Amino acid sequence: MSHSQALRHYHDWLKDAHAMEKQAETMLGKMADRLQHYHELKFRIQQHIIETRQQQNQLENILNRYNISHSSVKEVIGKMFAIGQAIAVSFAEDEIVKGTMSCYVFENAELASYTSLIAAATYVGDKESIPIFEQIFEQERVMSDWIFSHLPEITNKFLTLSDQQSIKAKL
Ligand code: MG
Ligand code: FE
Repeated sequence: MSHSQALRHYHDWLKDAHAMEKQAETMLGKMADRLQHYHELKFRIQQHIIETRQQQNQLENILNRYNISHSSVKEVIGKMFAIGQAIAVSFAEDEIVKGTMSCYVFENAELASYTSLIAAATYVGDKESIPIFEQIFEQERVMSDWIFSHLPEITNKFLTLSDQQSIKAKL
């Protein structure tokens, strides 16, 4: 049985994952730049930006192995992950809370992508890539858990600052 169709889909999903990580970098970068009063969150996001760039390199290595140019990476921005755009353009008063929730959603979209990529890599026999996807998955899981566990604290801080009328202190 030939896997030509499966390979085509697999290669497509690799490019999607690469575009997703590019978008993650942009989105996280915008958020980190705007944060002034949420130091722990800012620091965690900055750490994850470093991981995100490493993930891009790892995906580029896999794409190169298949001779797929990552300059031809298709634009999934605003399509698959429109939520990222919502963060980028959001200047709502409660942006910190909505943005943190959006980050959580994005991390979980990443978890879904790598789960699917592991299944696809297994199907097409790309054994070499499976540990890479598993490693990336673990980084996304740790980030997702961090955001989830800090969301109550971030919400609380935002509400406290709101009650203190420190309108400029909300990011
Ligand atoms: Mg990522
Ligand atoms: Fe991530």
